Amino acid sequence: MRFDTVIIGGGLAGLLCGIRLSESGQRCAIVSRGQSALSFSSGSLDLLSYLPDGQPVDNLESAIAQLQQQHSEHPYARLGAQRVRQYAQQTQTLLADCGLALQGDVDTPHQRVTPLGTFRQAWLSPQEVPLKTQTRLHTGVVGISGFLDFQPQLAAGALRKRGIDAQAEEIELPLLDRLRDNASEFRAVNIARQLDLPEHFEALYAALRPLSEQYEMLYLPACFGLTDSVVFDRLNQQLACPLRLLPTLPPSVPGMRMQHLLQQRFTRSGGNWMPGDDVLRADTNNARVTQLWTRKHEDIPLRARHVVLASGSFFSNGLIAGRDRVREAVFDLDVLQSAERRDWYRDDVFDTQPWQQFGVRTDEHLHGLRHGEALDNLFVIGSVLGGFDAIAQGCGAGVCAVTALHAAQQILAQGGE
Ligand SMILES: Cc1cc2nc3c(=O)[nH]c(=O)nc-3n(C[C@H](O)[C@H](O)[C@H](O)COP(=O)(O)OP(=O)(O)OC[C@H]3O[C@@H](n4cnc5c(N)ncnc54)[C@H](O)[C@@H]3O)c2cc1C
Repeated sequence: MRFDTVIIGGGLAGLLCGIRLSESGQRCAIVSRGQSALSFSSGSLDLLSYLPDGQPVDNLESAIAQLQQQHSEHPYARLGAQRVRQYAQQTQTLLADCGLALQGDVDTPHQRVTPLGTFRQAWLSPQEVPLKTQTRLHTGVVGISGFLDFQPQLAAGALRKRGIDAQAEEIELPLLDRLRDNASEFRAVNIARQLDLPEHFEALYAALRPLSEQYEMLYLPACFGLTDSVVFDRLNQQLACPLRLLPTLPPSVPGMRMQHLLQQRFTRSGGNWMPGDDVLRADTNNARVTQLWTRKHEDIPLRARHVVLASGSFFSNGLIAGRDRVREAVFDLDVLQSAERRDWYRDDVFDTQPWQQFGVRTDEHLHGLRHGEALDNLFVIGSVLGGFDAIAQGCGAGVCAVTALHAAQQILAQGGE
């Protein structure tokens, strides 16, 4: 099977790259083994919240200038501030075109309210997510009876400690009784499958209406809206006060909606989505990837002028930790890592962990390196890359988006060569 570009991995990075390429007329395939990190994420996207020395970031340009001095392996340091800003802005447009209603902007990071009642900086958040700037109101934090993945008392207590007038409440929804029979089924995604049904709207509305008359703002766990914001919009039109949603423990409804809408956009733009398949190995010749072998296609290799590796980090098995070294799973690319195993981690689990920054080494074009040599038609993007800490620096989604569009831009610039 021949393509212009084959992308390994259909998470945020692979999908953004794939959409850009397919919409530009490329014959593009994404092979993706399983669920991506999006299904477990908050649904909010981080661009860059902290520098490696812990300084909070309020100006992207000067932060990237400091990264270039402090941390030259960081993907942003490689690309430079101008390109990071430009690709981040393009991502905003692309996500909006996919039907994702997000609040936020490159120049105005916001503080979102977390399910623990704390604040966390983000670049883009779903429109449902409450922001710190909206927390002056008398707020009811509403749990769903029996749903353990969101604790309204915990969130309301933490908000009160921050001076916010918040009270915990609970609603009963007998329509969910069937799920309650099995605690492991009583998860946000399964609840959403029920609450997204039009016939269940009135019951949800009836449970929330009295509370909306008592408070100036309601927070509810994000338990509806798997594919669209119809229920959220209707509730906000009909309730007596505004409603906002907090992401729950994974799996995450806002994250799954993002995955769904990006996948839909990719296939609608002509992309070939190959789910449940696994790129097992690759053949290379003269510093180029010549063909990819997958589990499902067995003896039929995938051939492409360009290959993009977007296989994710340890979480998605893009990187695999052995006893003595961390390896990249498909091409055995060079990996940025501490040589001694004892230096991989720090004993205090709340400390920044060195292994978080492990990942593939590339040249400045994002070509993967093997034994120090670039593979000329292989681009590496997203969280399989090394040199950044998505948690400590708050830059996970940003690195995915910026590197995805940079790779796509270079592939398109090379045209039909
Ligand atoms: C649990 C979790 C939560 C996070 N939450 C946030 C958040 O809220 N905000 C934020 O900004 N960042 C968050 N991050 C950071 C996150 O890494 C990025 O935001 C981003 O979603 C990662 O996307 P990715 O495309 O690089 O990789 P992934 O999402 O990991 O996707 C990689 C995909 O490649 C597939 N794959 C791997 N190997 C192969 C192979 N050989 N063949 C075929 N397919 C393969 C995997 O099955 C997977 O579907 C989170 C990370 C994790 C792990």
